[in-house]
Amino acid sequence: MIDIKEFRSNPDKFRKAAADKHIGVDVDALIKLDDEYRELFSKQQLLTAEKNQIGKQIGQIAGRLKKASDDEKADLQKQMKDLQARPSEIKKEEQQLTERIQAIEPERKDLLLRVPQPQADDVPLGKDDAENVELRKVGEIPTFDFEPKDHVALGADLGMIDVERGVKIAGSRSYYLTGAGALLHQAILRMSYDMMVFEKGFTPQNVPLLVREHAMEGTGYLPMGRDQAYEMKEEDPTAFLVGTSEVSLTAYHMDEMVDRKDLPLKTVAMSTCFRREAGTYGKDTHGLYRIHQFDKVEQVVICENDEETSKKFHDEILQNSEEILQRLGLPYRVVYVCSGDLGMGQVAKYDIETWMPSRESYGETHSASRFYDFQARRLNLRYRDEEGKVQICHTLNNTVIASPRILIPVMEMYQNEDGSITVPECLRPYMGGMTKIEKK
Ligand code: AMP
Repeated sequence: MIDIKEFRSNPDKFRKAAADKHIGVDVDALIKLDDEYRELFSKQQLLTAEKNQIGKQIGQIAGRLKKASDDEKADLQKQMKDLQARPSEIKKEEQQLTERIQAIEPERKDLLLRVPQPQADDVPLGKDDAENVELRKVGEIPTFDFEPKDHVALGADLGMIDVERGVKIAGSRSYYLTGAGALLHQAILRMSYDMMVFEKGFTPQNVPLLVREHAMEGTGYLPMGRDQAYEMKEEDPTAFLVGTSEVSLTAYHMDEMVDRKDLPLKTVAMSTCFRREAGTYGKDTHGLYRIHQFDKVEQVVICENDEETSKKFHDEILQNSEEILQRLGLPYRVVYVCSGDLGMGQVAKYDIETWMPSRESYGETHSASRFYDFQARRLNLRYRDEEGKVQICHTLNNTVIASPRILIPVMEMYQNEDGSITVPECLRPYMGGMTKIEKK
């Protein structure tokens, strides 16, 4: 969530951010409601002050009454009567103010939650991912001296992927990974998870996949994005299946004051992710690129409220993911995501796109985002700085690996003319030493 004080002191900054990010939010309606909210609130405070003042005056008159002459008494009693009449009027006025505050507060909060975090100054302006800016390319794009197959054909030939039964059992955008397909998927996830835990020092977590609304809202997936999440309406109207373990990892310390000495908190989780993929009808329907359920190893960093520190961790989490792709020997490129392709809360984002032979293009496999205090303010996630002042944390996250999308380049890049697939060296220890996947 943005800082309402900053918003009120410079609404144009947020108007521009919404325009740059192509996010529709009624800034003027929020200002109007917030004005009314503030007026009601200050009236409430005035009434409280008046109540206190009357209490004091009644006490003083009661004291004077004890010592008053008969002549003075009548006047004091009248003053007392007038004063005693006022609190019941105040009560009525307070009630009316409270009712009005309660009536406008949900809409004010909803509008506030829809105002995006302004992007960093160096983020390129653009409408969508076509305008993302390439920063670097790593690795050679392969050429095959035979007719290469795509992952779906390879998967069917080698008994690794079964889309037909996936769709029959679970509907569109569903699949089974079978035999060596299931092993390769697990090996990639586990290799990546182990690197993050044992080499990079991230704390592993096994996280809830069914979370409450507050965690979704806190991480910025609600209220916008509701159409992308599976809601457990029947079971529990406030529960959602996560689209990423970023939600559970980042919300772990929700409503807490973490110890500054414990920062940065670096956590990693391997989890299944569920996405409705609303609005993508007819897009990427072939194979395993865009599906409703997949697995992902996710890295999250929670650090001090300092932009330079955040930038440093942004580079670090990007580097971690690049290292995985380098171990896998996959060519990729890093792009700096333009304003229109940024989410509500992202200040800046790097996408890694891995070369996918069958698509004859790079396809997005990783997204590294930094949020500054946007998520932490919504999550009420704080710490005390050296001077003891309460600060809101900064948060960041990046995909370590997401499978089976990553199986597309792995299977297609490592295929051989005889139809087999060579298992990348770094995965062999996770596949019982298997070096090749061959037709049975
Ligand atoms: P995101 O959390 O949307 O930034 O996605 C992180 C990564 O998860 C993407 O770069 C993909 O590798 C993977 N991913 C996201 N959505 C899907 C999907 N619908 N099907 C398969 N993989 C996905």
